[in-house]
Amino acid sequence: MYSTMQDAPLLVSRLLRHGSTVHSDSQVVTWAGDGARRRSYGETGTRSAQLAHALRDELRIREGDRVATLMWNNAEHLEAYFAVPSMGAVLHTLNLRLPPGQLAWVVNHAADRVVLVDSTLLPLLAPLLPKLATVEHVVVVGEGDTAVLDGCRPAVHDYEALLAGRPTDFPWPEPAETTAAALCYTSGTTGDPKGVVYSHRSIYLHSLHVNTVEAMALSDADLALPVVPMFHVNAWGLPHAAFLGGVNLLMPDRFLQPGPLADMIEAERPSYAAAVPTIWQGLLSELAARPRDISSLRRVTIGGSACPPSLMREFEKRHGVTVEHAWGMTETSPLGSYAHPPRGLTGDDAWPYRVSQGRFPASVEPRLIGPDGTEQPWDGSSAGELEVRGPWIAAAYYGGADAAGPDRPTDRFSPDGWLRTGDVGTITHDGYLTITDRAKDVVKSGGEWISSVELENHLMAHPRVAEAAVVAVPDEVWGERPLAAVVLTPADGAPAAGSGSDHGDLRAFLADRVPRWQLPERWATIDEVPKTSVGKFDKKLLRARHAAGELE
Ligand code: ADP
Repeated sequence: MYSTMQDAPLLVSRLLRHGSTVHSDSQVVTWAGDGARRRSYGETGTRSAQLAHALRDELRIREGDRVATLMWNNAEHLEAYFAVPSMGAVLHTLNLRLPPGQLAWVVNHAADRVVLVDSTLLPLLAPLLPKLATVEHVVVVGEGDTAVLDGCRPAVHDYEALLAGRPTDFPWPEPAETTAAALCYTSGTTGDPKGVVYSHRSIYLHSLHVNTVEAMALSDADLALPVVPMFHVNAWGLPHAAFLGGVNLLMPDRFLQPGPLADMIEAERPSYAAAVPTIWQGLLSELAARPRDISSLRRVTIGGSACPPSLMREFEKRHGVTVEHAWGMTETSPLGSYAHPPRGLTGDDAWPYRVSQGRFPASVEPRLIGPDGTEQPWDGSSAGELEVRGPWIAAAYYGGADAAGPDRPTDRFSPDGWLRTGDVGTITHDGYLTITDRAKDVVKSGGEWISSVELENHLMAHPRVAEAAVVAVPDEVWGERPLAAVVLTPADGAPAAGSGSDHGDLRAFLADRVPRWQLPERWATIDEVPKTSVGKFDKKLLRARHAAGELE
């Protein structure tokens, strides 16, 4: 039997139209270091239309063409976020922290025709241009010296000049909701970056979820600060969700270091923010050294890698900010699970739920596959690789090496179409996920698994440990054993960094918290844990450093 309801496509242009009319007064505030630029959602709507006209009429962009951005989080990036998909083209957000070789690789793989670039990032783009065969136009956003582009092959345009005088509305097309809207490559920590192509439908449905009480629960009373970059999984869906709910946005532009971030929060008073744990760790240390008023912040979402419980506690204790933990990946748009405690639980009773990776919404269906290939029960202790499926979960990657047709590597997609996340964990009977490790980071010691994340979390709760990363290293007897690499905080009168007694103390500290057989024998004191392009611990690099004898 057919339903009698309309078949209205779920399109990004619908979010744009809604945000720029119903919420025309909501603001996008872009931090400029010593003050802010302000633009309303109404203006963002008219400027998005002008950008679409420029792309279509002057740069000859057609439906399905890729338009890349190499940009910080700012008002112009938001305009591209809406203009490009709404006109039927595909927005490709470039990760500006990728090594240059990989950056060129993804531009060529995606066959981008246009790159919108912040002027401050021209030194990064200019040397790559000779290698970017498909790029015909470079559009420079913001003022700055464009001399580095002199003599380059693609045509160079100024963003404001390109928009000026163009019509302020656009006849947004109505493509099928399943067509491509945006493209984002994984950060390539496990090999070549892989392209995930979001559809209009997946973005729309994901946005609806972001604003629910099962996730970020934002409204037009909020000023939300996405520290998470717009080049990293759509800034966790916040820009789209903001237009849906009229949520005001505070864009940090390039001011992402702890000091400027603290200044920005004090000056603009956001109520909410989202970032990976390393950002919050940096902000905590900054505020301890040089206090600022961050009392406007009521809630923050931490995700992207496991959030040490000690970080959550410190944030709440010192600054009264409620920290919410979330899990997701590029392939999951990214919101997978979100850790709100069950109804009625508060304080210490809620804690075990809040430090978990949280619950899945109805649209993200999970299952755990054990080492023997069987589905594991939701009993809070049976571990397996997490697999998920749902309307905003990737079913394939964009092309293989030659970008011809969808790519479904069997190690990432099951024969029955589920995404293999590469994360190992447990799920409780009431649906709370705990990720114990990434499959490739777990320490396989004598047939038992040691969770590197658990050891790290315990270590980071020690007052002298600023950061700790645990990696598996080869061991003749056990196959693998954990190596703990720690960054110590300076403390008066404490033993010198790197001395054996420090590690003895830390080992004793761990001995009270984990089984003896899990205690690392190998320790290293390092200046800093290396980070990936999106600010996660780079364990691949740590393992390589150990193999090169640098962490003895
Ligand atoms: P990459 O795979 O290149 O690092 P992603 O940002 O897509 O890029 O990373 C997704 C991965 O990050 C997940 O598979 C998981 O391992 C990790 N992750 C994300 N959020 C969490 C979290 N809250 N707890 C533990 N791990 C997390």
